[in-house]
Amino acid sequence: PTKDVFYLNNLVGESLRLIRDQKLFMNIDVVKELDDYQILVNADKNQLCQVVINLIINAIDAMEGQGTITIRTYRDRQAGKAFIEVADTGPGIPEEHLSKVFDPFFTTKELGKGTGLGLSMAYGIMEENHGKISIKETGPQGTVILLEFPEEPISD
Ligand code: ADP
Ligand code: MG
Repeated sequence: PTKDVFYLNNLVGESLRLIRDQKLFMNIDVVKELDDYQILVNADKNQLCQVVINLIINAIDAMEGQGTITIRTYRDRQAGKAFIEVADTGPGIPEEHLSKVFDPFFTTKELGKGTGLGLSMAYGIMEENHGKISIKETGPQGTVILLEFPEEPISD
C-alpha cells in the first residue's frame, strides 16, 4: 500500500462524496458523527476509501434501501488508536454467518448482486495498513462494523 497522512474525517467525506449521487441512497438517512478533533492517520487512502464504500453498500443492501446509516469517527488518545464505525439499522448478521462473513466468496446475495469479496478484501486491506476490521455489534437493531487504525502521532 502507498502511504498518505490524512485526516480521518476527510476519508469519510470523500467516501460519501464518491457514492452519494447514486439512487441507492433514495430512502437512506446518512448521519455523520465526526470527532471534533482532527484525527490523523497514515495509510493508503484510496484503499481505505474502498473499504468504507464497501461497508456503506453492505449497509444499504442489508436495509433493502430504507433506514439510517451512521458513520462515526473517534479516537483513543491513550492507546494511540483511531476508529471509524459504520452502523446500520438493518436486520443484523445471523449468528451462524458470523464466522464466515470475512471469507472470500461468502455471500447471501443473489447471483450477480454480490461477489462475497467486499469484507474479505476489507480484512486484507486493514491488515496491510496495520489496522483491524471487526463486527462490533450485530442484532435485530442493526450492525456496527468497526475499523481501527494506529493514530499518526503529531510532532510538536
Ligand atoms: P457481498 O456484499 O458481495 O455479499 P461482503 O463480503 O461484502 O460480500 O459481505 C458478505 C456477507 O456478509 C453479505 O452477503 C451479507 O450476508 C453479510 N453482511 C455484510 N455486511 C452486512 C450488514 N451490514 N448487515 C447484514 N449482513 C451483512
Ligand atoms: Mg459487500
